[in-house]
Amino acid sequence: MENENIIRLSVFLGLLCLFSLLEYLIPRRVMPGSKPKRMAANLSLVVIDSIAVKIILPMTAGLFAVWVAEQDRALLGFHTPVILAIILLDVIIYWQHRIFHVVPMLWRLHQVHHSDNAIDTSTALRFHPIEIVLSMLVKFAAILLFGIPVMAVVIFEIILNGAALFNHSNIRLPFDHILRLFIVTPDMHRVHHSVIKGETNSNYGFNVPWWDRIFGSYVAQPEQGHENMKIGLNQYEGGETSLLKLLLMPLKLK
Ligand SMILES: [Zn+2]
Repeated sequence: MENENIIRLSVFLGLLCLFSLLEYLIPRRVMPGSKPKRMAANLSLVVIDSIAVKIILPMTAGLFAVWVAEQDRALLGFHTPVILAIILLDVIIYWQHRIFHVVPMLWRLHQVHHSDNAIDTSTALRFHPIEIVLSMLVKFAAILLFGIPVMAVVIFEIILNGAALFNHSNIRLPFDHILRLFIVTPDMHRVHHSVIKGETNSNYGFNVPWWDRIFGSYVAQPEQGHENMKIGLNQYEGGETSLLKLLLMPLKLK
C-alpha cells in the first residue's frame, strides 16, 4: 500500500508519454485546433481532480478496502475473489457510465469529458472533479457491498487508467477487428465521442468490450468514418479549453 501512489503515478506518466509518442508516429486522424491548449486544459483538470479527491474523501479506495476487510464489514457477508472482483468493478463502471449519459444532472458533469472537440490520450484525463468524486463513491459502495479486496481495487484502478489513456489515444492500430474482441480499442471508443447522439450513447466500456455487446450498446464504426467523423458536442463546436469554463460547464444550460 505504501508504494501504491508511486506505482500508479509511474504507470500513468509512462503510458501518457508512450501513447503521446505513438500519436506522433502513427496518428489515426488529423487533429483540429491547438493541441497545446487542449493538453494544458486536460492536464490541469487531472491535477484539480486529484486534489479534490484528496480533500473531499477521507481515504483512498484501496485504504477503504483494507478497512472493510479488517473490520469484516462487507454488507453481503462475503469477500469477492480478486479476478471476479475486477470483472465486477468493470461492469459496475460500465453501468455508471451509461447512467451518467441518461440522468440530466449527471450528464451536465460528464459533458465536460465529451466537450473536447478532438480525442487523444489527454482526453482520458478530462473529467469534472465532481464526476471523479462521485465515481470514487460508487467504488466505495461496491467495496462495501461486495467486500472487494484491496488487491482488486489497486489492480483495477491501474488497468482502468491505462486502458482509458490507450482507448482515447489517436493511434492507428493494425488488426483492430481482432484486438477489439478482447479490449476496447481507440477505434471502438472514438465512436463514443462522435457528435451524433446515437453514437455518443454507445460503446460505454473502458476495459473489456463485452458489456457493450451483452447489453446492446455496441456500435462497430462511426457513420461518417474515422477520418471524417465530427468529435465532441454540437453545442461546444470549437471545443472548450478554458479551465474556468470547464469547471463551470455543469452550471450552464446549453
Ligand atoms: Zn461518455
